[in-house]
Amino acid sequence: MKRRKFLKRASITGLGLAVTPSIASCTTENKKEQKVAAIGKAVVPITVATWRFHNATKAAWEVLEKGGTAIDAVEQGCRVEEADVKNTTVGKGGAPDRDGNVTLDACIMDKNGNYGAVVCMENIVHPVSVARKVMEETPHVLLAGKGAEQFAVEQGFKREKLLTEASKKAWEKWKIKSEYKPIINIENHDTIGMLAIDKNGDISGACTTSGMAYKMAGRVGDSAVIGSGLFIDNSVGGATATGMGEEVLKTVGSYLIVELMRQGRSPQEACEEGVKRIVSSNPNYKNFQVGYVALNKQGEYGCYCIHGGFGISKYQEGKQTYIESGSYIPKT
Ligand code: ASP
Repeated sequence: MKRRKFLKRASITGLGLAVTPSIASCTTENKKEQKVAAIGKAVVPITVATWRFHNATKAAWEVLEKGGTAIDAVEQGCRVEEADVKNTTVGKGGAPDRDGNVTLDACIMDKNGNYGAVVCMENIVHPVSVARKVMEETPHVLLAGKGAEQFAVEQGFKREKLLTEASKKAWEKWKIKSEYKPIINIENHDTIGMLAIDKNGDISGACTTSGMAYKMAGRVGDSAVIGSGLFIDNSVGGATATGMGEEVLKTVGSYLIVELMRQGRSPQEACEEGVKRIVSSNPNYKNFQVGYVALNKQGEYGCYCIHGGFGISKYQEGKQTYIESGSYIPKT
């Protein structure tokens, strides 16, 4: 997927009538930091997703506009990407770890604060739906590896090979070049994190990924970890993350953003602060990417990232829009 094109200016025109622009007011030591207004009119239902996952927000919107629940919307949206073999960052077709095994992480969280997740799960195309089963059918919240796979099969999910020929070829090429080391850079990721508010005004979220490409076997990132890749509080809003999971985990990014919104920050301001926590604690920040998306209970959203090139797909009032995120390091 070509999501790395940095467009010089953010466009908010797609927001149409919904725009009540509000420029984020955080100050920063980085004078070149790019600010982008990304706060829309408070209209629900709404769904937002990381990156240009337009097929996912469309599927989620179809659920919401029929009066469906936010939890169904985010699950259906994520499933679209998990099934898309051309998407090498999620589900079937996802890039494998450095040993050539595709291992998936996913989670889901509902309006009541219930959460379910699977990590390092192989051979199952729809980890988001397995995560939902963990949430609804077990006394636990997180299943890992073989246990998660076994549970999925017991729940009626079919085992399937996830490594496609294209992903295998790319991995074989990587192996020659990288001497079998895991590499962390800003290109080898792209999780889908989704947030939705339904007609009743309730919020839910989900996040699903194959993780960093060519990661070490057994590595688990932020995406399925509550508070890091995703957090929902139905009295405040929700947040989700993409990018270098280790950094999101260390700062408990999504939880931080929701708590900042609870204290009165806008979703945009909260995402910016989430990024700044990482930047201020890791001098290496120029070498990786993290992007956040937040949605408050009023239906206002925000997004922010370390490097330019990130953006979000939004569906609201029957209309789909791509919103480019502001970034801490603008592309020069
Ligand atoms: N956050 C994911 C992880 O660290 C990577 C991604 O965004 O694709 O596993």
